[in-house]
Amino acid sequence: MTPPFCNVALPVPLRTTFTYAVPDSLQGTVQPGSRVLVPFRKKAMVGVVVELVESAPQGTKIREVARVFDFVPALTVKLIELAHWIAGYYLAPIGEVFRAMLPPVTEVKTQRQIILTDAGREAADSLSGGELSHGLTSAEAAFLAKLKEKKGTLLLGPAAKLGVDASALHRLQRRGLIEIRESVEGRKRRTQRVIAWKGVPAAAEKCSKEKIEEKDKAEMPFDSARDKQSTQRNRREEKIRELLETERGPMPLPQLLKLALVTRAVVERMLRDGLLESWEEAIDPAEDPFDAGYAPAAHELNVEQESVLKRIRARFELGEFGVQLLHGVTGSGKTEVYLRAVQDTLGRGKTALILVPEIALTLWIGRQCRSWFGAKFEGVAVLHSALSEVERAREWWRVRNGEARVVVGTRSAVFAPLENLGLIIVDEEQENSFKQEETPRYHGRDVAIVRAKMEGALALLGSATPSMETYHHAREGKYELLTLASRVADRSLASVEIVDLREDFQQTHQTSPISAALHAGIQECLANGTQALVLINRRGYSWSVLCRSCGASVQCANCSISMTHHKQRNRLECHYCGSIQQIPRVCPKCQSKYVYFFGEGSEHLEERLRKEFPGARIARLDRDTARTKRQYQETLGAFAGGALDILVGTQMLAKGHDFQRVTLVGVVSADSSLSLPDFRAAERTFQLLTQVAGRAGRGELAGRVLIQTFYPEHYAIQDAVKQDYAAFFERELHFRRMMAYPPFTSLANVIVRDVSLEKAIRWSRQLSEYFSPHDDKGVRILGPATAPLARLKKEHRFQFLLKSPKRSVLTKLLSGAIAYCEAKDIPDTAVLVDMDPLSLL
Ligand SMILES: [Zn+2]
Ligand SMILES: [Zn+2]
Repeated sequence: MTPPFCNVALPVPLRTTFTYAVPDSLQGTVQPGSRVLVPFRKKAMVGVVVELVESAPQGTKIREVARVFDFVPALTVKLIELAHWIAGYYLAPIGEVFRAMLPPVTEVKTQRQIILTDAGREAADSLSGGELSHGLTSAEAAFLAKLKEKKGTLLLGPAAKLGVDASALHRLQRRGLIEIRESVEGRKRRTQRVIAWKGVPAAAEKCSKEKIEEKDKAEMPFDSARDKQSTQRNRREEKIRELLETERGPMPLPQLLKLALVTRAVVERMLRDGLLESWEEAIDPAEDPFDAGYAPAAHELNVEQESVLKRIRARFELGEFGVQLLHGVTGSGKTEVYLRAVQDTLGRGKTALILVPEIALTLWIGRQCRSWFGAKFEGVAVLHSALSEVERAREWWRVRNGEARVVVGTRSAVFAPLENLGLIIVDEEQENSFKQEETPRYHGRDVAIVRAKMEGALALLGSATPSMETYHHAREGKYELLTLASRVADRSLASVEIVDLREDFQQTHQTSPISAALHAGIQECLANGTQALVLINRRGYSWSVLCRSCGASVQCANCSISMTHHKQRNRLECHYCGSIQQIPRVCPKCQSKYVYFFGEGSEHLEERLRKEFPGARIARLDRDTARTKRQYQETLGAFAGGALDILVGTQMLAKGHDFQRVTLVGVVSADSSLSLPDFRAAERTFQLLTQVAGRAGRGELAGRVLIQTFYPEHYAIQDAVKQDYAAFFERELHFRRMMAYPPFTSLANVIVRDVSLEKAIRWSRQLSEYFSPHDDKGVRILGPATAPLARLKKEHRFQFLLKSPKRSVLTKLLSGAIAYCEAKDIPDTAVLVDMDPLSLL
């Protein structure tokens, strides 16, 4: 008998679950992991059943569960366990953790099918022979017979129609006689046809080509026109093979036709000949045809890749939890290794999860998986936040029902309801996008590792510039280190040079953001007909507006941040809260007329480049010019297609794009990210510069990178120039040890915030009273201090920074702090706890 009560987690900022009674009509259907509709205060809310319990707390009125959404519990037992871990580690309310985990709660129409299993069929057969009752009631036996009659499937409907109730169905399901599957109702979705190279092994490929030629010759042996046609055909086929196999990977049909300059008939014929394969997939809003920073996986591995794969296989043999770090330079072919590891995992009857930092990559890797895992196209699910809710729910339930065994997705896909998980890959594990910057503030990579541990799976982290934490663990032997030290096809890394802006100024006596060296480099590109990328990490025209008389800068009314001048839009904008202001004619403080614009952004740089290179075709790519995905694609497409000479833009340019004709990358200022008041500034700068350097020389042409800086002696810049990760790691590690920062200590950032300054001060004082007796007892407590962003979106902010060599001490102290705030009536929303913060700003 199921216990009559259940504890439910609700999406409210309260750190507790709530007890509800399970009415008789729902007995057996309410299970741990089920989503239920319950009354809460004066509303109805959707929550998750965390556990079934025998009794309810005394003295409160216990209300009833109104409805169960899922016949099959939405969450697996392992995911419930993971949710508890996240709630404890990141000190997040349990209901909010579940909210982040679940597919959209909006009502998705689902169909539930009851399916007769083999065991069920056997039981039904023997029952009809009148042999045994198998301990079934007569209604249950009749139901099995009916199911058999209906060819083994029935839609789940009301009990009256089926002849059995929910608890009977559950009994049958538990005994393995039936299965109940949930599928999202098939609303017609728009699809497109994707074409992939079938990957015919070299010998077979040759053979098939010869056969075509032979056939042609046999038809008209001595016709030279026919011969010419045949070579033309081969050339077209070769172009298609190159695009699909070595340059871009599988792609939608229209895009292929455009890039290969062939007609549809050619592709159709190649499909018939078995050289290509195709499948339908949903048209995705996040489609990005130019994001091809990854080359498709080749079918042959080089020696280095082979040896790495061997060590991954050896790990699989152990059949237990482990973490491996795959440290591979840009362009070293990590994707090949990933796909083989997934193949092995599937071969062992297990499932695999691939996490990537960007939505565009989910599509790309998803497609690679589909073309690799052959006939099982439907076995790959893609999960990311840009999918429509229906689409996301559909993919989610395909995974939950075991129809998809490989999941590719962004951060939240770490919660994909895969069972029997064998492998979790986290690609570009150092990327900030894995960290969620709202409650629950979890880190996707770290949760992936914990999940792998719970499931006894292998976690494989990949990166060209691993985070300090990860590489430290690898060096300490906690993770196994695998290295890919050379680029595929023996391409060399670009040469990187420093431009010392102090010297440049002494020579030119000008403060242009384009040094003489960068100017000369761009000139050379233009003369040779190659392309240049110019990176600047501030958008807008001028970063700040100053008064020459009183020195005041124009600040946002809601944030303690300078407003940025946007020339084209003719106004000032706050980049934190989005508020806008008129451009002041006089100083708002002292009324002087001497208002002055300072600091050049991307808009200004574009204007300058147009002046300095009047004949060049120039475009800018930043959040102002690429407001929509379409604009973004058009600009990148024009650049990739050779319609532009110079592309100037922000970090958007640094990642992923594989431009074959770029021979020069200029970084206007390496210092702006280096000078941020944040302990990860050096690490971020090194990562950014290494990534940018990886953009040059991807094709046949050699690449050159120019980094402009006022601090050429800084090790982050020096080591990026040498592209020497190990050297950077050593020096940065030394700094972290000296300053007691991660990976040597655990860190937590606590922000107290409110619109009222008085309240924010009062609450941070109260919290300080709680913290101070604990200072220096295993925890170092800094603060309260004004936060680096003292005011943000109208809220005043104060900061505590907690450091401890022992995480458990930190966690205990912070959960005490949360209880203390509750007791003192400090609202939960006013105290923001960020465990393992990525940024202290
Ligand atoms: Zn003034
Ligand atoms: Zn603002």
